[in-house]
Amino acid sequence: MTCIFCAIAAGDIPATLAYESDDVVAFHDIDPKAPVHLVVIPRAHHANAAELAAADPALAGALLTVAAQLGAEHHGGFRIVLNTGPDGGQTVDHVHAHVLAGRGFGWPPG
Ligand code: AMP
Ligand code: ZN
Repeated sequence: MTCIFCAIAAGDIPATLAYESDDVVAFHDIDPKAPVHLVVIPRAHHANAAELAAADPALAGALLTVAAQLGAEHHGGFRIVLNTGPDGGQTVDHVHAHVLAGRGFGWPPG
């Protein structure tokens, strides 16, 4: 099965990286929804946030830690989003955290 985010993590598809470690990679979203829009993924393929949390809680924690660190680099607050499942707006079935910053965000989200 071809997974676009596995391919980015492997370096087989180009992306503008913002962070990488043995476990986690972050890159700039190709279609940004805010002035800062990063996508943070584990290198290991898990379909969504629920499956990652169940299968590997430590990796889920690492993903959140990196997302929070990247968000905190941008003054004025940020939003972390984990779209999960088709009704949750998930279009790529490799778990990813969106880190959004640089504008205001309403609540509840639209
Ligand atoms: P989601 O709708 O939560 O599954 O988010 C998937 C995100 O991946 C979207 O915001 C897309 O713009 C982004 N995306 C898809 N393909 C790429 C790519 N090749 N490089 C960077 N971002 C991508
Ligand atoms: Zn994958």
